[in-house]
Amino acid sequence: MSPHLPPAWPQATAPDAASPHPGASPRRGGGLVLELQTVTKIYPGTPPVTALAGVSLAVAAGELVGVVGPSGSGKTTLLHLAGTLDRPTSGTVRVTGLDASTLTDRELSGLRAASIGFVFQQFFLNEHQSVLGNVADGLLYAGVGAAERRERAAASLARVGLGGRLGARPTQLSGGQRQRVAIARALAGAPAIVLADEPTGNLDSATGQSILALLEDLHAGGATIVVITHDQVIAAHMPRQIHMLDGQITSDTAATAARGPASIPAPANPRGPAASPPRPGGFS
Ligand code: ADP
Ligand code: MG
Repeated sequence: MSPHLPPAWPQATAPDAASPHPGASPRRGGGLVLELQTVTKIYPGTPPVTALAGVSLAVAAGELVGVVGPSGSGKTTLLHLAGTLDRPTSGTVRVTGLDASTLTDRELSGLRAASIGFVFQQFFLNEHQSVLGNVADGLLYAGVGAAERRERAAASLARVGLGGRLGARPTQLSGGQRQRVAIARALAGAPAIVLADEPTGNLDSATGQSILALLEDLHAGGATIVVITHDQVIAAHMPRQIHMLDGQITSDTAATAARGPASIPAPANPRGPAASPPRPGGFS
């Protein structure tokens, strides 16, 4: 298999009984973007640490999912495995229907470049690059030329409200603006899924709310997003909430969400999906 994977939908994405979501992405046309089946992760050591103890979940195109749980419950491990940054001890991880265990490291790099956008608490921006350069460099492995990288990066930055700061350095930006740059970088390649690990963890609560509002707006525009947080208030905004404790999923509102308004394909509504409760602060 080529490391440069096509963005096509594989066959294994038909919704099934375990994942009744019809798929809500106007961009991708539906299907399961992420599937974990009885995934375990045991970190070796004395004693070994069981970070994930048999986790199963499926995320359909167009979903906005909050994964919430206390520190140490396995959230980051889950994100690393879902993002194919690490391999499970047992169980299966599929991204856009592709079984990660069947892919070489090189192929996984291709899969990540084509299909997965990452957002981290610490932003991970290059301070020596402009905002535009940071986002454009995120497309280095997307197989497009420099001019198109910059064009796509500028469009992505406009989408997160930073169209006027393309030439700025990250050091000239606020924390919230830096996280917007990171989100723009994650989105620039039009990934099938964005995985965000505590994206508001380094921000004050008002700024965190504006980042949350941005994620909701992107979701309303069709993006598929999994947001990891230890903050119950943030998770409560999410149309679907997965709770974790001690490496296991203790609850998943997927079944409820599938019946409720959140699963209906969202219109181009800049205020976010109708199911969302009012936000303090709002989009800024
Ligand atoms: P969370 O993100 O919910 O705080 P983590 O996935 O980071 O949880 O951690 C889950 C458990 O796995 C914790 O007990 C943590 O100490 C352990 N753990 C995480 N990463 C490693 C690692 N690289 N090596 C050993 N243990 C780890
Ligand atoms: Mg964590």
